[in-house]
Amino acid sequence: MGAYHDFYVRSLTDRDGFWREQASLIEWETPFAEVLDYSRPPFARWFVGGRTNLCHNAVDRHLGARAAQPALIWVSSETGQEQVYDFAALHAEVNCMAASLRAQGVGRGDRVLIYMPMIPQACFAMLACARLGAIHAVVFGGFAAANLASRIDDVAPKVIVSADAGSRNGKVVPYKPLLDEGIELATAKPERVLLVDRGLAPMAHVAGRDLDYAALREQHLGAEVPCVWLESSEPSYVLHTSGTTGKPKGVQRDTGGYAVALAASMKAIFCGRPGDTMFTASDIGWVVGHSYIVYGPLIAGMATVMYEGTPVKPDGGVWWRIAERHKVNIMFSAPTAIRMLKKQDPAYLTQYDLSHLQRVFLAGEPLDEPTAHWINEGIGKPILDNYWQTETGWPILALARGVEPDLPGKYGSPGLPVFGYDVRLVNEATGQDCGANEKGVLAIAGPLPPGCMSTLWRDDERFVKTYWSTVPDRLLYSSFDWGMRDDDGYYFILGRTDDVINVAGHRLGTREIEESLASHPEIAEVAVVGVSDALKGQVAMAFAVVRHAERVATAADCQTLEGELMRLVEHQLGGIARPARIRFVALLPKTRSGKLLRRAIQAICEGRHTGELVTIEDPAALQLIRDAVQAG
Ligand code: AMP
Repeated sequence: MGAYHDFYVRSLTDRDGFWREQASLIEWETPFAEVLDYSRPPFARWFVGGRTNLCHNAVDRHLGARAAQPALIWVSSETGQEQVYDFAALHAEVNCMAASLRAQGVGRGDRVLIYMPMIPQACFAMLACARLGAIHAVVFGGFAAANLASRIDDVAPKVIVSADAGSRNGKVVPYKPLLDEGIELATAKPERVLLVDRGLAPMAHVAGRDLDYAALREQHLGAEVPCVWLESSEPSYVLHTSGTTGKPKGVQRDTGGYAVALAASMKAIFCGRPGDTMFTASDIGWVVGHSYIVYGPLIAGMATVMYEGTPVKPDGGVWWRIAERHKVNIMFSAPTAIRMLKKQDPAYLTQYDLSHLQRVFLAGEPLDEPTAHWINEGIGKPILDNYWQTETGWPILALARGVEPDLPGKYGSPGLPVFGYDVRLVNEATGQDCGANEKGVLAIAGPLPPGCMSTLWRDDERFVKTYWSTVPDRLLYSSFDWGMRDDDGYYFILGRTDDVINVAGHRLGTREIEESLASHPEIAEVAVVGVSDALKGQVAMAFAVVRHAERVATAADCQTLEGELMRLVEHQLGGIARPARIRFVALLPKTRSGKLLRRAIQAICEGRHTGELVTIEDPAALQLIRDAVQAG
């Protein structure tokens, strides 16, 4: 057994000693009195009594040794801009933003919603909240008004920070109209909206509510806002994610545990050293962006590349040019991006000097073997899959090469359980542990390690009910993923157990899309399923029953209604939630008790057998789905 085995075992058997050591990777204003309080399972409180601050650890802490070292490297291939902030400049900008927020009355425990494109001010806003002890709720810029409104109502933000527009594929995407509509739809209206004007789209200000950030920044230039020291368990942020119901779940993260987990992962999993540069091509609206664009690399004293753009614009070499130019050491992205690159000229892979690049990490969706081989051979660097979720905040399965450099990988497997995670595979029906090579639900025995969700925002009951009550007779955290472990202890992820789908590494709830489609007056019933797709991993397919058959009498009618519905989803939820196709059927397959048979629909779409469906109400419904799929 190697070094990692011992490291992992110790993380569970000498939990306090192990995490006490890891906790020294960050700075504490007041040392903690207790490593873990697990007196009220499944609620875990890590580093009880310790006081710290995420912004201090990400920024201020490095001013002594590396004030002039790059901290935030912003590159936009959309607007052709680039800006490098060293730690001193980042500190100054974060202070301006913090002073601007403080002037609006934002303080400890207040919520600030951030709805922004990938611009430096988004990063400043997150760090400024952390500095003030305020709780940020970042909403992905690709989400539209309805999504925004439900998140506004969930956290009731005092202030929203936003911008005039983003840009995607060279096209300006205005944010302000969606923001105004989101606020209009919401009940918990913010007192103030801080707006960054990039000059991309005209933007009207609402008098008495909207403020121009440039003017505020000017006013607060040179401000020094002290870090507010938080008790380790105080929330740092809420990040919403999709589940099986239409209502998104607000994953709540603590402060001290998160900082320690990120610091530990940067060292042991990502092999990052102070002074290195990390390029995580994701978005701050996702958990990967929170952990490995903003907090993780900065806490580790590294520079982070924040990138606005796609992997293929202006051409398929853009990532590698950035990697060469900024001497990137670590890259992190999702398999879909690599599949996009695969369609480009392979010459891009060898055209740039990638001598600084050590490893490429991929997560967010299954990494298929051909894609892994292609990129590995193309750039000649190790490709490391890792598996985790918004809920956990950092990897559950990975290869900790920072602990054991030669830890072997296996294609198709994200690796071994990460230190601190007591990973189990359990039988769905009995709750018993599975043996090797047996498929089960991937679960984690409590306490969840530091950095994982502490609860759902203002809903402890839903946290317990959703995550800790699905394994029969056992208090285990369910990941809602199927998994398998081989004889060597390597895990394989085999898809979700619930109605969550994964489109291009983005997690979407089929129920949210169904609810959006059902809000159209012509739709009587609808089912949305995830169907495998060569590029995006999965895409959403919708099957709808209309109220008036004459609305879909001809192919042209169907096309018109499909277009209307697509626009509706795009408007309410955002383009990423738009189904690939909407097909109209007279009947949906259901059980006799009225439950939609989504898995049977999915099987038909993927050309698989539906299996025996003894509880089906009307088997003719399956044929209708088959006919609709065949009709194209
Ligand atoms: P999110 O919370 O958006 O990060 O999505 C988490 C979900 O994405 C997991 O529950 C898995 O279903 C899937 N996922 C994430 N990483 C991987 C991976 N490396 N391999 C397979 N599935 C993954």
